[in-house]
Amino acid sequence: MSPLAGVLGFPVGHSRSPAMMNAAFRELGLDWRYFKLPLPPERFEQALRALPGSGYRGANVTIPHKLVAHDLADELSDAARAIGAVNTLTFGEGGRIVGDNTDAGGLLDAIGEPVAGTALVLGAGGAARAAAWALAQAGAEVTVWSRTSENAAELAADLGVGHSERPGPSELLVNATSVGLRAGDTLDGLPLVDARIVVDLVYGADPTLVVQWAEERGARVVDGLEVLVRQGARSLALWTGEEPPVEVMRRAVLQPPV
Ligand code: NAP
Repeated sequence: MSPLAGVLGFPVGHSRSPAMMNAAFRELGLDWRYFKLPLPPERFEQALRALPGSGYRGANVTIPHKLVAHDLADELSDAARAIGAVNTLTFGEGGRIVGDNTDAGGLLDAIGEPVAGTALVLGAGGAARAAAWALAQAGAEVTVWSRTSENAAELAADLGVGHSERPGPSELLVNATSVGLRAGDTLDGLPLVDARIVVDLVYGADPTLVVQWAEERGARVVDGLEVLVRQGARSLALWTGEEPPVEVMRRAVLQPPV
């Protein structure tokens, strides 16, 4: 039987991961299959525990399950433990569940250059936690801003980074809010400061609001699709031990979800 993997989320119909992962498996000549696994929260634990015995070797985890996946894992990577969220599960002998967070390393891979200066992270949700932790680990001086300032203060205290209600210019700016995800969103209210490199974790069919804003200012732009590819590449490497075919994954992720 082919080894199986999938993405656990709710909803998960929009996910580009199956196209990206199946293209990568084909390119590597691996007989793996990757599926969308829509799971409402009340079915998550039961379904998760059934996966290893059903041929599954790994899974990606997305909204709303990243925190509970962290709590259910038998073993956690340093990143997953520090961030408090899991986006990648690997199933071992006897159904053992290992939790990792490749959103963190995937962000650094997508930036692709040293990040030793100042970094401003907008948002205080799960993506912001992963970004702030990754950038701090990489040596950046990290400040977090959130429209709900208590959330930024809590994240900053947890991870030992700074927070500000009126942040100044920064070497690196990461949009880890969901602004730009929905039609009708505007940039009003986001403190978009001058930055040499701008990362937008949000992605869609067209360039996002933050990407357009950054391009107009001549910043180096890293878009959310590149981060998606890089976190997926790290998950694939964890499961298979193979070198991920990043260019093939980039091309596949551009296809609209089916
Ligand atoms: P989340 O936990 O729901 O957090 C969303 C954050 O956005 C919160 O801090 C929220 O602030 C803030 N926010 C929402 N609307 C806002 C607005 N109008 N103005 C200012 N702040 C606003 O979500 P998440 O899991 O962290 O994900 C955030 C985004 O990153 C999503 O779009 C997700 O798709 C994307 N993401 C991309 C990747 C990738 O691989 N490219 C990976 C992970 C996540 P409040 O608390 O004040 O509401």
